Amino acid sequence: MLEVENLSAGYGRGDVIRDLTFMAMKGELYLLLGANGAGKTTTFRAITGILPPSKGRVVVEGIDLWREPEKAKMKIGYLPEGERVYPNLSVYRNLLLFARLYGTEEERINEVLREFNLHEYQDKKAGELSRGLRKRLALARALLHEPEVLVLDEPFSNLDVPSVMDLRDKIFESLDEGRVVLFSTHILSELQHFEGIKCRVGIIKDGRLILEEKFENLMSLLRSVEVVITVTNQGLALQILKEEGYPVKAEGRNVVVSVSNYVVEVPKITRVLSENDIGVLQVRPKEVPLERLFIELSTR
Ligand code: ATP
Repeated sequence: MLEVENLSAGYGRGDVIRDLTFMAMKGELYLLLGANGAGKTTTFRAITGILPPSKGRVVVEGIDLWREPEKAKMKIGYLPEGERVYPNLSVYRNLLLFARLYGTEEERINEVLREFNLHEYQDKKAGELSRGLRKRLALARALLHEPEVLVLDEPFSNLDVPSVMDLRDKIFESLDEGRVVLFSTHILSELQHFEGIKCRVGIIKDGRLILEEKFENLMSLLRSVEVVITVTNQGLALQILKEEGYPVKAEGRNVVVSVSNYVVEVPKITRVLSENDIGVLQVRPKEVPLERLFIELSTR
């Protein structure tokens, strides 16, 4: 479990994040959502012990991060923004460095290399890897000491689709293994993939947590959401949804439907489509600009 209480931190000229309080349980995903510059990275730096707080505390599995930093840090794995690896060291040596730092058995490196399909690159310099592979290495390094809490800063940025899917699977695996997983993003639609799992979203604006909600509740807070549905028969889907009274339009090969309540309406729509033998290949909310979300939330 991770507890963050009244946490404030900054870089010398006043606090950038102020009075953040939240909690994340074992097996729970906590998503920190905020625009560029909102304070996500700063929050993660304070949570992982890189940036000292000016106020408040962080408790990891019952251990206070600033009272017993070494003990607490053993329980945290951190994937910083970008692919921060040592470019001149081989993949293996990058992992070895961390294994020594955390007192992890060298045998665990081979396990991680296999788990992350990195063994064929183990002698290659990390700086010569592709971006996706570098991120994979950085994640392998974050999980090397089998931490209870995994903190991922914008993990999906600059990754191609297969790498995103791999990473998502790793996150699911980590949750199944009982870890707390925190990650940050400024892209609202990224959250859809975590529907159905224990997932809470904290929205950060100007260094303050302005809202905390379960993912499904967050979507229903929006008055109207456009849902993009990829179907096997676009023409028929448009006709049927029109007949059912939905505001619907075609967009590329997809069907876009406006719904007033995402959680209630989407299952109804997919049911209607499958009752009419239309295959539903993908359903996702169309990107909602964060600014719109903030405006809607602040008028409540
Ligand atoms: P992004 O999505 O762009 O990564 P973010 O939500 O992670 O943004 P932070 O990187 O935490 O935001 O930045 C929050 C504020 O702190 C910004 O105003 C930024 O300019 C400032 N800041 C970040 N790093 C430093 C630093 N090393 N020194 C001084 N100010 C900083």
